[in-house]
Amino acid sequence: MTDAGLTGALLSWYETARRALPFRNTKDPYYIWLSEIMAQQTRITALLPYFTAFTARFPTVADLAAADEHDVLKAWEGLGYYSRARNLRRAAVCVMAEHGGRVPSDPAALRRLPGIGDYTAGAILSIAFGQKVPAVDGNVLRVHARIQRDATDVMTPAARTRARAWVLSLMPDDRPGDMTQALMELGALLCLPAAPRCAECPAAAFCGAHLAGCACELPVKTPKKPQRVENRPVCLLLDPEGRVLMRRRTEALLRGLWEFPAAPPAGVPLLSNEPCGRAEHVFTHIRWQMEGRLCRTPAVPAPEGHLWASPEDFADLALPSAFRAFVKILHTVWEG
Ligand code: SF4
Repeated sequence: MTDAGLTGALLSWYETARRALPFRNTKDPYYIWLSEIMAQQTRITALLPYFTAFTARFPTVADLAAADEHDVLKAWEGLGYYSRARNLRRAAVCVMAEHGGRVPSDPAALRRLPGIGDYTAGAILSIAFGQKVPAVDGNVLRVHARIQRDATDVMTPAARTRARAWVLSLMPDDRPGDMTQALMELGALLCLPAAPRCAECPAAAFCGAHLAGCACELPVKTPKKPQRVENRPVCLLLDPEGRVLMRRRTEALLRGLWEFPAAPPAGVPLLSNEPCGRAEHVFTHIRWQMEGRLCRTPAVPAPEGHLWASPEDFADLALPSAFRAFVKILHTVWEG
């Protein structure tokens, strides 16, 4: 079996199996860029409403560049990994200032934009600009390890280098972007991590792991380090008007987003203090175990970096999804 046979099988399958996604039927580099950044953290079907809302709010790179950072974070709310939204906006500003408002098709210029790594650059260059540049993410690493029956640890640079070379060998001159998308779709729809659907797979006749009956044993991956557990108290501090005290984060994690304070700040005395529920949130490296307190306070000015938010003000604040359970509790208090 040749690479050309595999290329043909993947492209023909992609033509019939491709999902009707708003960013699959366009060569607009902004849409492809945005969809790839969103897809790094979320399944495609889950990100669709975010993609639609985000592109309605910021239809072009110029709109994104002109937007206030807080509005961009608000539109990103629920997707997590807010540094990606911040980088996206910073990169849009660079595109306007340095590239005349056009996403650069030069690989080096593209890679210099904030938040654009090898994977995103490969996706934009191949799909939007028809360049033979591979885009290798976790899905493609898995597909490569299986088809090539390659037991290199996928967390190593060597596995990535081999996968890139392999994808490049499969890319036809005239449709490199379709190969990028065919491999993405294969990884998302058939070559699933735990239960690959080999019986339906267009690559089955070319797939070393499937032919050897060891698809589920690949890819080889070193186990991740366990996440660090952090206790995170959550204070819902309500003043006599029912406004809640919010703090704007200055820490690297979730910087710029609004949060419920971990403790009552200096100058905010408590009239009452009772437990109001627990929740857990898992970030990439940290696991927050959150314990809520519902506290009543007298009318005092908001300390620096904080604000008292009425329900209407609160609706406009961008909050990390980690606090979702406590937002619900707050609404229950407001509605009760
Ligand atoms: S045959 Fe199975 S293991 Fe091989 S690429 Fe297809 S789905 Fe993945």
